Amino acid sequence: MSFIINSIPAVQPIFLPLFGQQRVAASVLRLDAVHPVVSGNKWYKLKMYLAAALEENKKTVVTFGGAYSNHIVATAAACAAAGLSSYGIIRGEKAPMLAPTLLQAASLGMHLFFTSREAYSNKVIPEELALQLNGIDHIIIPEGGYGEKGMKGAATIFDGIDIRQFTHILCAVGTGTTLAGLVLSSLPHQHVMGISVLKNNFSLQQAVQHLLPESKMVNYQLLHNHHCGGYAKHTPELLAFMDEWYRQTGIPSDFVYTGKLFFAFQQLCADQYFPPGSNVLLVHSGGLQGNRSLRPGTLIFGSE
Ligand SMILES: *Cc1c(COP(=O)(O)O)cnc(C)c1O
Repeated sequence: MSFIINSIPAVQPIFLPLFGQQRVAASVLRLDAVHPVVSGNKWYKLKMYLAAALEENKKTVVTFGGAYSNHIVATAAACAAAGLSSYGIIRGEKAPMLAPTLLQAASLGMHLFFTSREAYSNKVIPEELALQLNGIDHIIIPEGGYGEKGMKGAATIFDGIDIRQFTHILCAVGTGTTLAGLVLSSLPHQHVMGISVLKNNFSLQQAVQHLLPESKMVNYQLLHNHHCGGYAKHTPELLAFMDEWYRQTGIPSDFVYTGKLFFAFQQLCADQYFPPGSNVLLVHSGGLQGNRSLRPGTLIFGSE
């Protein structure tokens, strides 16, 4: 299933004085650069779902997301490329002006249906959509691609990359699907660390355990102290850090996920968390849609 992305993401070494002082080597896996729209981890999480849909000859895909969801745009783009029709159930009432993320999804052919936050959290299919889907064979992809297929797709992120040298693998965590996939494909000597971008979401542990086979439940850990106020929240320190990180490395990040990942890594380094000689791989999961909700000019780089 490589009709959209078949390139191997680059591993970019990062040299910053702090890492040198701590004798910690760091590299960024640039999933953000594999495709201009289906950016980052979302493609990997989607691919097994889409392969299954095509195999079962189902031409219609339904999924869920928020107004700035990387998953919504990625699904719209991937479905368009695969010749599938896509339906997005969007959290919250329809705003008078559609968010740029939703405009982009719509321009890629996704049909959008808005639903109250309550109905959304109960995963209710809006009646209007249910009527349209009546008699149409379709698949439903859970929010964020959470599920076994999402994990197995994410487990192909390291395909074609020699990861043996790394002692630690870090990623940002929303639903935990990507983390589970990375744990699945990591090696026994590696520590996989997930930086939760949600505040006090301790059910995450269970969500990840639920996906993983028993033999793989050991070599990972979730960190809960790097959310900068909670999901899609940000602090002046985080935004200043993202600008500085971009200046020093040329790597853009978003304030919802990867900004918090890189910020957490820097803080952990400063706290001497990593033993000297550690070699850390930071998984840049892509998706800069969240930055589009910031006032233009807030960051020195854009959201494209
Ligand atoms: C969706 C997303 C995540 C979260 O991935 P999960 O598999 O849901 O944990 C992380 N980073 C970015 C950029 C994302 O868009």
